[in-house]
Amino acid sequence: NIKTGTELIKKAKGKKISKGEVGGGSFQSMGLLPSLLRALTLRGYRVPTPIQRITIPSLLANPPRDVVGMARTGSGKTLAYMVPLLQRLGGRHSTSFGARALIMVPARELALQVLKVGKELARGWGGGGGDHAGDTQGGSEPKGQALRWGLIVGGEGLDEQFEMITSNPDVIIATPGRLLHLAVEMNLDLKSIQYVVFDEADRLFEMGFETALDEILSRLPTSRQTLLFSATLPKSLVEFAKAGLENPKLVRLDAES
Ligand code: ADP
Ligand code: MG
Repeated sequence: NIKTGTELIKKAKGKKISKGEVGGGSFQSMGLLPSLLRALTLRGYRVPTPIQRITIPSLLANPPRDVVGMARTGSGKTLAYMVPLLQRLGGRHSTSFGARALIMVPARELALQVLKVGKELARGWGGGGGDHAGDTQGGSEPKGQALRWGLIVGGEGLDEQFEMITSNPDVIIATPGRLLHLAVEMNLDLKSIQYVVFDEADRLFEMGFETALDEILSRLPTSRQTLLFSATLPKSLVEFAKAGLENPKLVRLDAES
């Protein structure tokens, strides 16, 4: 039930989503890494939901595209950004970069949920069983150490979180207040971030994180890919998207309100 698929925000009038983008999409047709496809099947994700079917190919397009994804709660927005994230990062730890992906969420419990989804999908890539298995597999399988995840959320000890950061995570899942604190007070460097997600963006704004988010945006490289997922798109969020995203593609599916 696609209402609009316009290249909103910078171009007022956009083009409609083509039939090819909507119909017939399967995880198998998205050019995903074999390990990622296997993990999706293993976790019971056999067919992409509508928001996944449209956003995943857009997010993996060349050149990468910014996307605003708007769809109701329960429509599968987590995988809509997690699948491209894992594909882009190759599912393995990078020793030559700092954190390459940042997922902003409004609350600690959501951070834990997102972490669980991501870790489950990234587990055992390269054909092995455990987190560090599979380093010697051949073919197109990812090689190297398991992807490292870092959680930066309120309610955890600051020192422990700083230590965690020094363990060089590839993906940071964070609430804005705590992330900004670490960036300002402890010089946490966000300059290697290439992929940024604002998940439950409407809630991020409702909770008064707007100023923190603006400040975080200003510390990120401009050459990043930026995604915003939300169940609703209030005016404040449109303004934020204008400032933080570059000519985003708006994917809007039977959203709330
Ligand atoms: P949202 O963020 O839009 O509220 P979630 O990403 O939390 O939605 O997903 C809602 C539920 O749907 C979760 O239980 C998730 O495991 C399930 N789900 C997501 N994508 C798929 C899929 N492609 N196939 C089957 N189940 C899915
Ligand atoms: Mg969600």
